Amino acid sequence: MPEQSENKIEKVVIVGSGPAGWTAAIYAARASLEPLVFAGRPKQVPSLVLPGGQLMMTTEVENYPGFPEGVTGPKMMAKFEQQAVRFGTRIQTDNGQNPDVSDPDDGHSFAYHDCTKVDLSQSPFTVWGENDVCVKAHTVIIATGATANWLGLENEQKLARSGGGVSACAVCDGALPVFRDKELAVVGGGDSAVEEASYLAKFASKVYMIHRRDELRASKIMQQRAMDNPKIEILWNKQVVDVLGDQMISGVRLSDTQSNEESELALGGLFMAIGHTPATAFLDGQLELDEKRYIKLADPYRSTTSVDGVFAAGDCVDSVYRQAITAAGMGCKSALDAEAWLANHGVE
Ligand code: NAP
Repeated sequence: MPEQSENKIEKVVIVGSGPAGWTAAIYAARASLEPLVFAGRPKQVPSLVLPGGQLMMTTEVENYPGFPEGVTGPKMMAKFEQQAVRFGTRIQTDNGQNPDVSDPDDGHSFAYHDCTKVDLSQSPFTVWGENDVCVKAHTVIIATGATANWLGLENEQKLARSGGGVSACAVCDGALPVFRDKELAVVGGGDSAVEEASYLAKFASKVYMIHRRDELRASKIMQQRAMDNPKIEILWNKQVVDVLGDQMISGVRLSDTQSNEESELALGGLFMAIGHTPATAFLDGQLELDEKRYIKLADPYRSTTSVDGVFAAGDCVDSVYRQAITAAGMGCKSALDAEAWLANHGVE
């Protein structure tokens, strides 16, 4: 259990629980550092950070080595978590008890804590959780990932919050009865948009991909997947300028990005797949970030940041690769870097 006394200083606190966070925990736990993880509380709004990270919104993962038959994102994350706990990782929870992670479907993750803020200005660092939980730490690993982007339209936000058929996660919400046999749309032209459209096509009568340019950003193989699916139609050079509907979405207003001509498209659901923003706002400027607000590494081959003793890993660092395997690799590096830092500073 996450023992906490007034004077205890944790060796390693890990913020985040995607592939980077759990891999850091596995390595740190196996090095007997008894890491404490702020895994993040499950949210009702799908754009926010989930325990398990973005993989909780992914169906089949087919490119993670060691799973030749593929594995679902949630199942893979449950396995990462179980492996981390097996070696002594502690998870910050409501009651201070480590949850039983053997059954990933029992809802135990609802007891997990968000990290609400950090003070990295002096060592030992301070990490706050919910209910004023306050933890001191010699080293901190930030592995908070990145969250889904929205268009920022007023009715998009309103309907997303009220469950009115607008979502940033087709994999979370697309199978709901309300979307069955409806005409749906995905906004975006990247790999995520194709993946989400392909997923929705299993339930929907038709799926439009609304893309603002005349070529997809998605990889060739994913482009082919979209083109080959008879239920997917790509609407080129179109931008959503309004979301229509009161309690439930009824459609969107589109603007042609070449001619500026406007049109309406009737829809039963709208899904955003327009990229992600790194979850770094809680750092409140205490670590150096790049222009897209990803954490800047002090050395590109390490996990070191602008603050000595603070390490970063995964999608909150990486705007390029953003893969489970690359995040896990960075998580490993961060734990090894934290272990070396502790040894160099004589912390036992
Ligand atoms: P992405 O590659 O950044 O694509 C975002 C898409 O959204 C782009 O097509 C972009 O249009 C569009 N977009 C951005 N802002 C917009 C706005 N305000 N209005 C309308 N459209 C907007 O993001 P992603 O698809 O989430 O992929 C992220 C990374 O994960 C990529 O490296 C991708 O390869 C990887 N990924 C891989 C897989 C897979 O292999 N199975 C699945 C999912 C993701 P423009 O093209 O015009 O910029």
